[in-house]
Amino acid sequence: MPKTVKGAIERGRATVEDVLEVGRTTVEDVLQVGRNTVEEVLHVGRNTVEEVIQVGRNTVESARWIAKGTMQAAILHGREDIRIEQVPVPEAGKGELIVRVGAALTCGTDLKVFRRGYHARMIIPPALFGHELAGTVVQAGEGVVDFTAGDRVVALNSAPCGVCYFCARGQENLCDDLLFNNGAYAEFIRIPARIVAKNTLRVPDHVPMEHAALTEPLACAVHGFEDSHPHPGDKVAIIGGGPLGLMMVHVASLAGCEVIAIVRHDGQAEAARQLGAAQVVQTKSIRKAIKDTRAFTEKDRGVDIAIEAVGVPEAWEEAVEMVRKGGTVNFFGGCALGTRVSLDTNRIHYSDITLRATFHHTPAICRKALELIASGRFQAGAFITGRAHLYELNRVFEKLMNRSSEIKTAIVP
Ligand SMILES: [Zn+2]
Ligand SMILES: [Zn+2]
Repeated sequence: MPKTVKGAIERGRATVEDVLEVGRTTVEDVLQVGRNTVEEVLHVGRNTVEEVIQVGRNTVESARWIAKGTMQAAILHGREDIRIEQVPVPEAGKGELIVRVGAALTCGTDLKVFRRGYHARMIIPPALFGHELAGTVVQAGEGVVDFTAGDRVVALNSAPCGVCYFCARGQENLCDDLLFNNGAYAEFIRIPARIVAKNTLRVPDHVPMEHAALTEPLACAVHGFEDSHPHPGDKVAIIGGGPLGLMMVHVASLAGCEVIAIVRHDGQAEAARQLGAAQVVQTKSIRKAIKDTRAFTEKDRGVDIAIEAVGVPEAWEEAVEMVRKGGTVNFFGGCALGTRVSLDTNRIHYSDITLRATFHHTPAICRKALELIASGRFQAGAFITGRAHLYELNRVFEKLMNRSSEIKTAIVP
């Protein structure tokens, strides 16, 4: 009897435990399935919302583009005369793109053009204005296969022909038929077929438009730096604390060079330090700049490379005086038409100094520049010091003329 009772009890307990176990498993399954379902729903929901936003954004932009017929754009009429006008929205011809401008950046060249009222090679008024931009494609013309509406792109300001003597030698920056494009300070911009084919790059999702728009000036800086044939550890003096001088400081320091930045203003000195300059010489005196820069080298022998990024003859001459025997000078800043400099031929010959003067960029360098921005190593954000709407453009340029501490302002149309 007891045995039977004990057995019954044990069997009963086992059954209860089984039931409990099954029950527990079921509850856990249900919980698990429920959790998965919720997560899936959340996931699907999130994707749907993002798609709707994306489609919505594209649709809104396309609708704006199709419905409006006209858009707001900055037109340069002459010296210090920019007007925001209603002009026809461009349409994409064969091989062309229409891009909704996400951000257009102010640039030293635009400031020069604003002051002078024209640019011999790039812009003859009245004309659309602005050349550093990134945005979203809203229309792709017939025959365009690489891009479609909704693509985020940076379209460079120029493209080489690809067939002339210079293009054939890989010196596309010197192309006999360099095609320039302007019109970034506007709601929409037409990208000519040659720039679509050769110099329009896709912007990775994680890169903000205003950072991608830095591709053009950064390409100039990377080109000028590489053309000076630097080696890691070289002492590199960079004259000038404007946007390109500061970019050069950053590029050289990222490449492992020891940078001496020669600047005039407090804001520039601070920016140069933040961007990696090992030493900053802040002075308006050329003699002091040469002396102090040499003092940062062993036995005052001079720097390995001196890069001039101002574009005035005094600074060109200054660069030659601070480089060591066998060193390289790069006259990177373009001076006004007709400018001449006076150089010590003895010093250049007997010290075996290499003189270079790098201009513009090539398609390969532009790709390198965007990669550098996308890598996160390049502090793109440090170069955008202001934001303004298109209708504030005149005020922005007036401010830039008065030597403010702004580096670049992002114009958002
Ligand atoms: Zn520029
Ligand atoms: Zn060419």
